[in-house]
Formats: sequence, structure tokens, C-alpha cells
Amino acid sequence: MPKIYFIDVTNRDGVQTAKLGLSKLEKTLMNLYLNEMGVFQSEFGFPTTRHETLYLQANLELAEMGVLQPIRLEGWVRAIASDIETSFRLVPDIKHLNLSISTSAQMINGKFQGRKQHEDIIHDMTDALDAAKASGAETVGVNAEDASRTDIKFLTRFGLAAREHGADRLRYCDTLGYDNPFTIYDTTKTLAENTDMPIEIHCHGDLGMAVANSLAGAKGAIDGGQDAYINTTVNGIGERAGNADLVAVILAITKSKQFTDKYQMGQPIDLSKSFKIAKFASYAFDVDIPMNQPGVGANAFAHASGIHADGVLKDPENYELYGFEELGRGDPVTVETGREIIAGQYSGISGFSHIMGKIEVHFNSREEAAEILELARYANVEAQKPLVEDELLFIAK
Ligand SMILES: [Zn+2]
Repeated sequence: MPKIYFIDVTNRDGVQTAKLGLSKLEKTLMNLYLNEMGVFQSEFGFPTTRHETLYLQANLELAEMGVLQPIRLEGWVRAIASDIETSFRLVPDIKHLNLSISTSAQMINGKFQGRKQHEDIIHDMTDALDAAKASGAETVGVNAEDASRTDIKFLTRFGLAAREHGADRLRYCDTLGYDNPFTIYDTTKTLAENTDMPIEIHCHGDLGMAVANSLAGAKGAIDGGQDAYINTTVNGIGERAGNADLVAVILAITKSKQFTDKYQMGQPIDLSKSFKIAKFASYAFDVDIPMNQPGVGANAFAHASGIHADGVLKDPENYELYGFEELGRGDPVTVETGREIIAGQYSGISGFSHIMGKIEVHFNSREEAAEILELARYANVEAQKPLVEDELLFIAK
């Protein structure tokens, strides 16, 4: 039976969201948390973008060191041969790529304004794919942007051409959140059957259906005989109304009515990291978690009305589908209400050593402390807000 895998795109679709962004250290922490959770792949950035180069190289080095293992780190590029050349020039060790190009008549006509026809799209994509393979890419996914508004016959031809040129997966992008669970099921099933390729399901929430569409799309791919790779972001942060939320999709797959009877994840996911990753993303993006967010919202396990409170006290299953402990909630949180010493871009050794001592990091010498302080200062210049304990621990390590 084919299985469901997760490709998280927070570090690509999430960070390209208007008014939002992450520092490179925050992106690195996201990769570490996603790896801890058991997410199959992180779309970790843009290999053609100059300011990403050192971050991408460093994270590949962490993978090499075994720190970011077994998660796959994959870069997003346009399906243009020159982008492939730039990617491998700037980030020579990149091993996994997704190539993206618009496939709908709306976008081909509306974006390229007559400069490209459908045939040119297939030509550009296969050219880029050949270049990626020739440059040593181990896996390549091919993204059909605006797939949900693309004629299915063309989409199938696009997928078949990608497979012929060695693509590993076809990403079905519901770029505008136009699909509903019924349409996406039919389309991904047809695509799986007719292209014989694993299908990535990339959904947006413009009509409030990103999570439901992700499940229906995965079901379609599996019923069509192929593995499904669901694209998610942490807290659903993404373009406009956002993407399918990582935690909500995991909950929907594992807890919704009868779904796991037939549709299962290909590798275990550690749900107990959910609260930690959601809180970190909220802090890093500076976007509150909505109180009614599934699993991680402030009200997800709150009960006030008499009948509900009485019922949940007698047996939590009366009013809760899953326990808060499963998501890693329930630990006491300490908030400093007295004197605080903060690590920042102008910190000195004494204050910094005090902060690090509190999290049990002790320096062997003043030189060592100075070196690590310098890294923390740089990280703080980029983040422009106090570094969290895990960031400080990561820097020290
Ligand atoms: Zn997207």
C-alpha cells in the first residue's frame, strides 16, 4: 500500500509570505525541529538567492555532520536551466531540488503574455530537469504551479514528460486554494494512475480547505496507486490565507474518522514535538497562534460550560478527540517577573556567561566565551529579538 509523507515548506513558502520572515538561525532551528519530529523533507530555501547561500551551505554541512539527519533538505528553484546552473555554483553540495513552473492557461497567458506556449513550458521544465540531473541532483520534484486550474490532459502530459526525464515526484499545486476535497481527489487519483509518479499535494487556504484538501489529495494519489507527499507549513503560515498546517494535517490523518484504516504515514511522526515547533514558529514569525488552532491553540483543551467541564472531568474522551500530552503540552512554563539579563547584539562576556550558565553551558576560557558571544551577537543582529534557549544552546554546541 502506498504511504503518506510530509514535505514541510515553511522555510520557503512560509518565509516568502508578505510582511513575514525568519532569520537564518530561525530557519536552521525549524529544520532541526522538523527533523526531530520525523518530517521526511524540508524545503529549506532558495539556492539561487545570494543571502541564502551561507545558510544553505551550513545546513547541508549540519546534515553531513549527522545533526540534520535523516531529514532531506531540498531547495526550490524556477524550472529554468540557468537557475540550476546558479544553484550548483552557489550551493555545490545541494542534493535535492524542486523545480517550479506555471502550467495553467491563465498563468501561461497571463504571466508570459504570449512569449510562451504550452509546449515551451514542457520544454523549459525538461531542460531544467536534465540540467539538475546532469549536475548531480539525487532527487528532483517537478512543481506544476496553478495545477488546479490546469487542463488535466496537459497536466498529465507535463507529468509524463517529467517522469521520462527522471523526475522523482510531481507536485500538484493548488496555488490559489481553488480546489475542494472532491475535485482534488479526482485529479490526484487520475494523475497518479496516468503518470505513474508519486504525487506531492500542495494546498492553500483561500477557501478554508487546505487541510481537508491535503487529505483528499493524498487519498486520491494513494487510490491511484502512488505515494502521497503532503506539503505543509508550521502554523499554516504562507502566502495570503496560508498553507496546510503541519500539526492539523498530522492530526487529521491520524485522528479523523476511519482515515488510518487505509491511509497511513510512511514513517512515524513524533506528535509530542508539535507544541514546541508551533510556539517557536509563532515567536520567530511574530504571529500569534489563533486560540482556536487545532491542537496547539490556547483553547484547544479549554472547557468552561458546565456540561462540557463536567463531562471532560469524568472522562476526557467525552469532549476531546486526543490528549494534550500527545502534543507535548502540559509542562509548566516559567516566566521571569523579576530581574532579567538578556543576550543581545551588544552583550558583554559577563552577562552572556550568566545567561549561558542558567542553561548549563559553561565556558572553559574567556576566549571560548568571547567566540560564542560573537556568534550570538550576529544571530541577534539578524533576528532583532532575544534568542530563545534552543538557539543559544545550538550556538554553543
Ligand atoms: Zn504555495
